[in-house]
Amino acid sequence: MSVKDDWQRKLRSEISEVAPEAVADALQSGKGVTVVDVREGEEYRQGRIPGALHLPRGFLEIEAPSKLGDRKGRIIAYCAGGVRSLFAAEALRKLGYTNVESMAGGFGRWKANGHPIAEPEPAPRRSEADGAKGPSAEWVARLQKEVPAISPVEARKVLEASNGSALLLDVRESDELREGRIPGAVHLPRGFLELKVEAMLPDRGLKLIAYSTDGTRSLFAVDTLRRMGYANAVTLAGGYTAWAKAGLPTEVPEGLTARERERYMRHITMDEVGEAGQLRLKKARVLCIGAGGLGSPSAYYLAAAGVGTLGIIDFDVVDRTNLQRQILHSDDRIGMKKTESARRTLEALNPDIRIVTHDERLSSANIDAIVSGYEIIVDGCDNFPTRYLVNDACVKHGKPNVHGSIYRFDGQVTVFWPGKGPCYRCLYPEPPPPEMAPSCAEAGVLGVLPGIIGSLEAMEAIKIVLERGDLLVGRLLIYDALEARFRELKLRRDPNCAYCAPGRVFPGYTDYNQFCGV
Ligand SMILES: [Zn+2]
Repeated sequence: MSVKDDWQRKLRSEISEVAPEAVADALQSGKGVTVVDVREGEEYRQGRIPGALHLPRGFLEIEAPSKLGDRKGRIIAYCAGGVRSLFAAEALRKLGYTNVESMAGGFGRWKANGHPIAEPEPAPRRSEADGAKGPSAEWVARLQKEVPAISPVEARKVLEASNGSALLLDVRESDELREGRIPGAVHLPRGFLELKVEAMLPDRGLKLIAYSTDGTRSLFAVDTLRRMGYANAVTLAGGYTAWAKAGLPTEVPEGLTARERERYMRHITMDEVGEAGQLRLKKARVLCIGAGGLGSPSAYYLAAAGVGTLGIIDFDVVDRTNLQRQILHSDDRIGMKKTESARRTLEALNPDIRIVTHDERLSSANIDAIVSGYEIIVDGCDNFPTRYLVNDACVKHGKPNVHGSIYRFDGQVTVFWPGKGPCYRCLYPEPPPPEMAPSCAEAGVLGVLPGIIGSLEAMEAIKIVLERGDLLVGRLLIYDALEARFRELKLRRDPNCAYCAPGRVFPGYTDYNQFCGV
């Protein structure tokens, strides 16, 4: 017989359980009842009982006095299935709340019985350190005296010397874990501690080092563990915060943070993207060639979509004539390096991604080093020498090259993917003579046009990351802005292409003379 089962049986005899119907009646009658939702943030966000107050089990002892008020008032706690709320009710009784009940069957039964469900309130920023007031503060002070604590540095030593007999136990909620955790720690949220610890960690002789954010919630967790027979359980003094501050190893587990989930909600709700797709985007490394007319919308949307590492290469500075189309920049940044202006705009839009700037002119000398750091290249350059360099590097390194170009009222976009379709040289083996090449600086371009073509490039790059849809490989999409028409041309590989034909040895780079106005 486990401690949990005994404990649960004891609680069932002490705490009255009410059916969801009685809870609904109590709420409807308007006779002062406080319904407390003790589930984790993640569960709460799936819906709650209308009017319920969210007080997650892990924060219950700390926050109850400041949130619940009258200690004689009627309180009904609920969780998902009706067990955690029993333990929560017990904790509330210890704080002096005399009239606490637990809802039988939890939110699961509430839902199954057809009672209304409300949208959750936005989550407040919870702090365990300064939340404790009144009886909670006294309880915390008592536990601080009773519960043995260990410093992060000492804990590290114990763990290293333990040979498996010591273990870190992370008692924070699942949401919090995503912001960072201690490598090797076992995660068992405070709310599930009584329910799951015996099954997860059957050896009661283990030296468990429990940690929360700053070491307050873990005091309550260790108190529970010791009651359950884990006599060697201790709390990590200062919690995860102190551990990280001491420079000890931490890791960000694979997954999205709560903030990322919120930001990318409209992606995640689509099955074709989902959380897995968003994670792919987070791990993706995309390089934008140029922070000009095409690079602006490409980089803007790639950053918004959550591409985790976004490189920008440009050696130019912002000029007033750029601003009619290069939306990354603004009038107050004239004279600033484009890479710096781009970085500021993109970081303001999405602080959760990494912007890498390369403030240099792309050449045969640096292109290998730069391109090798990325998986996908989005070409938004405005000149032939760079276009050929980018093509050749993508062929050499086998990377997809999302290509866009614009001229006056016309734009085109395609994906050159070595091995899967033609490369740029399959179509144009050599650049035109300089006097034949149109220069965008001279030719002019309607401001919206790069916005459309650059956005199409961003879309292709995202499709490559997600492995979704039909790519523009072997297809050239041509946009005529004046006619408001899209056309499509089939592009074929040149079996004799000097660069991408099967079996070719890479012939090396050529630095053509810079002849487009920059
Ligand atoms: Zn080719």
